[in-house]
Amino acid sequence: MCCCNANKQASQATVQDPVCGMNVDPVNSSGSANYDGKTYLFCSAGCKRRFDADPMQYLASASAGTSVCCSPNQAIGAL
Ligand SMILES: [Zn+2]
Repeated sequence: MCCCNANKQASQATVQDPVCGMNVDPVNSSGSANYDGKTYLFCSAGCKRRFDADPMQYLASASAGTSVCCSPNQAIGAL
């Protein structure tokens, strides 16, 4: 139904660094943080430090900027 399904499959190997937007290979990540039940990986210790200082700043901008095909309202309604 939604193109997000294809995106999930394609991005299984890497996760996005919420701070700088880079794709990070979980095997080669330089740091990780748990926030709100999710694990976030970072390309460098510097990105992790910035995330730790203010997680909401990066999570808010990520959810607002990366959703091209699914509107936030739809996602909330589905849950
Ligand atoms: Zn980074």
